[in-house]
Amino acid sequence: MKLAADLHVHTIASTHAYSTITEIARHAADIGLSAVAITDHGIALEDSPHIWHFEIMKSLPRELFGVRLLMGVEANVQKGGTLDMPERILKQLDWVVASMHKSTAVMDSPADVTEAWLKVIDNPLVDLLGHIGTPRYVCDYEAVVKACAEKHKLIEINANTFRVRPESAGNCRKVAELCRRYEVPVCVDSDAHFHLHVGQPGGAGEMLEEIGFPEELILNASYDRLLAYLQNRPSR
Ligand SMILES: [Zn+2]
Ligand SMILES: [Zn+2]
Repeated sequence: MKLAADLHVHTIASTHAYSTITEIARHAADIGLSAVAITDHGIALEDSPHIWHFEIMKSLPRELFGVRLLMGVEANVQKGGTLDMPERILKQLDWVVASMHKSTAVMDSPADVTEAWLKVIDNPLVDLLGHIGTPRYVCDYEAVVKACAEKHKLIEINANTFRVRPESAGNCRKVAELCRRYEVPVCVDSDAHFHLHVGQPGGAGEMLEEIGFPEELILNASYDRLLAYLQNRPSR
């Protein structure tokens, strides 16, 4: 599988990642990507950048070395489905991933997780539900995918998950099967923490190939599809 864009990438602004925006864009250009979304963690996580990081992103160039840059965030979903980022800042950003992480999403049951995702899906400022296959956050995937179909949200199949949380693979496969059934577009993202990992679909790509997932439902396998999404999304 060849990606045209990678829509979930971390920079040195998250302290557990190791590359700059410039290094990421340079590498993306070298491997022929058309676009990259810069998505450091929202402000509630231990390694998050200061809120000023997100305030100032609007002044950065949207293209480097011929690669389109989407300035974004991986916002933290909290119990009840609220996000850890002010709406005012989300509105300024080009791309919003919402994900659940151990220290910021304390859920008591799969029902809590489902409820939180449904609230996130109702948020017009969110583009993409990040790494929803994480075993800690098992939920009613069918309800979540159906709601994404209704509200035109995207679901991520996260390559990093297959490297660092291989026990998620079965859940990711279930989610992908549901996305195919309900025709919900997915984004295959590296969630790279180092620039040489950007653009690599890894195990996520292999799994989608294995199940014969339709290419036309992989949003970021085509730059034209990504552009059409950005132009047509109702939220901005
Ligand atoms: Zn994450
Ligand atoms: Zn991430």
